[in-house]
Amino acid sequence: MNFGLTSDQLALRDHVKNLLDKECSLEYVARCDEAGQPPREAFQALARHGWLGLIAPQEYGGVNGSATDLAVLLEETGHHFEELGLWLFRSYTFGCYAILKNGTEAQKKFFLPKTVSGEFTYAFALTEPDSGSDAASLRTKAELDGDHFIINGRKQFISGFDIADYALVALRTSQQAKKQQGISTLLIDTKTPGIEVRRIPTLGQHAIGTTEVTFTNVRVPATSLLGEIDKGWSICEDTLRYERLCLSAARIGAARQAFEFALDYAKNRIQFGKPIGSFQAIQHKFSDMKVMLDTAQTMVLRYAWLMEQGQAQRADTAVLKYLVGESYKTISDTCLQVLGGYGYCNEYPIQRFFRDSRLATIGGGTSEIQKNIIAASLGL
Ligand SMILES: Cc1cc2nc3c(=O)[nH]c(=O)nc-3n(C[C@H](O)[C@H](O)[C@H](O)COP(=O)(O)OP(=O)(O)OC[C@H]3O[C@@H](n4cnc5c(N)ncnc54)[C@H](O)[C@@H]3O)c2cc1C
Repeated sequence: MNFGLTSDQLALRDHVKNLLDKECSLEYVARCDEAGQPPREAFQALARHGWLGLIAPQEYGGVNGSATDLAVLLEETGHHFEELGLWLFRSYTFGCYAILKNGTEAQKKFFLPKTVSGEFTYAFALTEPDSGSDAASLRTKAELDGDHFIINGRKQFISGFDIADYALVALRTSQQAKKQQGISTLLIDTKTPGIEVRRIPTLGQHAIGTTEVTFTNVRVPATSLLGEIDKGWSICEDTLRYERLCLSAARIGAARQAFEFALDYAKNRIQFGKPIGSFQAIQHKFSDMKVMLDTAQTMVLRYAWLMEQGQAQRADTAVLKYLVGESYKTISDTCLQVLGGYGYCNEYPIQRFFRDSRLATIGGGTSEIQKNIIAASLGL
């Protein structure tokens, strides 16, 4: 569907589609998933064609693109490989958006050109073993010691920390009355001595993977601070809003790919002398999925538009995250059912969507937490 996309946005989508048709085939994606290897070649191909600079200003090598441009790019990327979209989004959100909004001139000059060229990649470390949904209760400490911070503690479920060059890390810098106060965000070189990383085996998301990160007397320069000391929680909330646009766009692209694969299968798989797509039970599954896909896709573009107008509220973000996460999960599950036993086989790609989509209702804020936010916005 084209909605109200401009000719430039349609050209962007076509360009990314043609590039990824070559660089990110289903076979390539299956190899990355099976080997637990990030899609570096596809990532670098996008970087070579300048797509990592989409939202950066021209002075840093970018093209100053809009939230809708980004949604179009990430949906098309997710349509080839969700994890490629999720890897890219970290560069846009943490390496570009967060630094442009909160960074010093020196930080912008250091990070932005190398983010745009694809030289630097990123992770985001908020969650800890004892603070998941209640993220602001985090305890990993950063203490000032002259012109350095000393970091001690542990972060949990940090996607791609082991393959990232830098991580935006949320840390407790002082104890204050409200737990949201006293948090700071630091941009940390992931190879700093004292950082130990362990990959956590998971159901899906095998290419980028997730990690546990332990900090033991890690010394980083005080210039690593992004924004003001003790005021990092608002940076976390703001970047999470941006993250949810990106994640949702990539995931709806992935849901569309699963849907198209299953639709083709339903038209060609013969049972009882007919294509299974001629049975009403299968047809209705596709009708339901089509409604979910169109609704979720429309909501991604609506949210991008709200961001461009500066009108995106916390509840709008929660509606988007909840709707897209649950739709992607349901669509992947339904597509697996359409393929029957072949859906359950690792030789067919649908099982990967089923595994990967399970994270969509958990990571970056669970569906239950999104519903809490929506209910609170209604005065409940
Ligand atoms: C593969 C993977 C990748 C991830 N990547 C990252 C990353 O890159 N960076 C990062 O910082 N984090 C990351 N996370 C962490 C993720 O955001 C958290 O797992 C998530 O926020 C939930 O926290 P939790 O797992 O501790 O669950 P908990 O908070 O313990 O929740 C457990 C259950 O209780 C429910 N629950 C909790 N509180 C409430 C409440 N108030 N009302 C109703 N229900 C409630 C939850 O919805 C959930 O069903 C990742 C997680 C996974 C699994």
